[in-house]
Amino acid sequence: MESGRLCLLLCLLHNTGTITYTESGRLNCGQHYNAAGGRRNIHNATCKFPLGRRAPCDIYWHGVSFHDNENIVSGQVNKFPGMIEMLRKINLSRAVRTMQELFPEEYDFYPRSWILPEECQQFSTQIRMVKENDASVNPTFIVKPDGGSQGDGIYLIRDPSDLKLMVGSQAKQAVVQEYIQRPLLIDKLKFDIRLYVLLKSLEPLEIYIAKEGLTRFCTEPYQEPSQKNLSHVFMHLTNYSLNVHSGNFVHSNSQSTGSKRSLSSVLYRLAAKGVDIKKVWSDIIALVIKTTIAVVPELRVYYQAEIPPGKPGPTCFQILGFDILLMKNLKPVLLEVNSNPSMRIEHEQEMAPGVFEYVPSPVDEEVKVGVIRDTLRLMDPGHKRTSISNLRAGGLDHGEEIPMEAEPQDRSPDEGALPSLCLKQVYPKYTKQFNYLRLVERIAALFIRFLGVKGNMRLGPTAFRTFIRTCKLSNSNFSMASVDILYIDITRRWSGTMADSREAGMGLQAFVEAFFYLAGRRFKSQPLREQVASLLELCEAQLETPPPGGEERRSVSCSRALPRSIRTQTLPNPQLSSPGPLRRAASQDYRLHQRLKPRSLRANLEN
Ligand code: ADP
Repeated sequence: MESGRLCLLLCLLHNTGTITYTESGRLNCGQHYNAAGGRRNIHNATCKFPLGRRAPCDIYWHGVSFHDNENIVSGQVNKFPGMIEMLRKINLSRAVRTMQELFPEEYDFYPRSWILPEECQQFSTQIRMVKENDASVNPTFIVKPDGGSQGDGIYLIRDPSDLKLMVGSQAKQAVVQEYIQRPLLIDKLKFDIRLYVLLKSLEPLEIYIAKEGLTRFCTEPYQEPSQKNLSHVFMHLTNYSLNVHSGNFVHSNSQSTGSKRSLSSVLYRLAAKGVDIKKVWSDIIALVIKTTIAVVPELRVYYQAEIPPGKPGPTCFQILGFDILLMKNLKPVLLEVNSNPSMRIEHEQEMAPGVFEYVPSPVDEEVKVGVIRDTLRLMDPGHKRTSISNLRAGGLDHGEEIPMEAEPQDRSPDEGALPSLCLKQVYPKYTKQFNYLRLVERIAALFIRFLGVKGNMRLGPTAFRTFIRTCKLSNSNFSMASVDILYIDITRRWSGTMADSREAGMGLQAFVEAFFYLAGRRFKSQPLREQVASLLELCEAQLETPPPGGEERRSVSCSRALPRSIRTQTLPNPQLSSPGPLRRAASQDYRLHQRLKPRSLRANLEN
């Protein structure tokens, strides 16, 4: 590995906030915020500080968000605009729920969730009904603050009356979720999996999964929740940041023992007990692809608002941290996705009372070095061939059940000296198996097409009318007056109390709701996903025909065409399950796009 690249790798692994770049294959790193002062000298000896540079860079490595470094007009940035917002607990729950409405069976890997405060009433009513129907059912719920991380503010409840709804005079934004009561245990301990995933590109969609991951163990033997043990965080929460403070936490030099282990060591252990780990791994891959498909539509809206077509801008990629729980029956469950997973390869240790030092963490090093190294290799502008992703050595190959297509194995000449990739491409590799799920993305493509004004993320009433007219969705049964009422009704419910006037209008999720409604009106007798697919086909067909009226031509002329790869897909499985009706209650007040001030966030949290 050439020195610049090695330097970047070191910077990233020892730091929590770094701006780095590569120029013509050369990599430099910038600000260092880590506490390990000794390391800083090493970096300064080999790295350049990019402040004041005029020349563009090939790769910009931001510590927190896309906006860390403004005015980038070329190259690649390691963060997507909107990713932090999309992966907040409420927005992720909404995105998955939309997919659950269309594909309930495919998206059953996410625990049932309610958004607080607006769905508090629904939550209470539903739980009361469940208990009334069967007195022996005694579910537990986990409440997670919307912007929380590292287990902060999380608590378990058994009754809706135990919800803590207010902070001072303000309603708490949170997700309350069905608690998985029977997780798979190892050594009697609950654990979860941290998997690193590279979202290499949105369009075309390219997803890579690290073959090696981490498992984080609780430090108190697990018992199913009871009123007595609900507050035992070391028993119920697997967060490293919490358990490291337990007297039982074990730092181990071995990757197969201690409170943080490699995923492969856990899978080997399960395999030795006869578990079909190929199936487990294949289910995990499917979970990652499906979750990514759920968040991509909104990410595309953010992306076009930040970098509208025609405006020079960078392309983006991002390493994400998927947190996954295995149930006792080995089914993987998605807990959350971290937009800023920690890449630290050392941990703090108390050497003597009150004296802390950073010491290497072999298991973190084993997993994370490969992830960053491979990300750089894949994003290297000189790396033109994507097919090397199929190389298989390096780390455990867990095998997979998702049928594979043969791909040529190939390496670019300068990669000969590097270890084989640990990041494995799963999309577009498994396009055939998962492309049919990308319905909402097609709705997002329509939405973007009618947004009109560059940088906009919301549709105004005129643009919504234009969409209806252009796609010929109004008729004698559904007049333009009804269209206006639909727009006002849905937009009011979704935007509710948004004070910021820039946020006025119909956001993507509201548009999706309107689209589902229109699809239901038009294709009454079909299941929702068929209704939506049929309406999409109808709209897309209309948009391919040159619009007859000048007004409509003007209003759509500034927009991008729909991506063909998505548009041409067909539903492969004719045996569709019947999805439930639209579940959004009319009284709900959805808050979309709650913008954070990215700089106020903590970088690269160790979860
Ligand atoms: P945070 O971002 O604060 O870490 P998580 O959603 O990751 O929030 O939850 C923290 C921990 O709580 C997880 O690591 C897991 O151990 C536990 N947990 C979260 N959701 C569930 C659930 N639905 N069922 C069981 N355990 C859960």
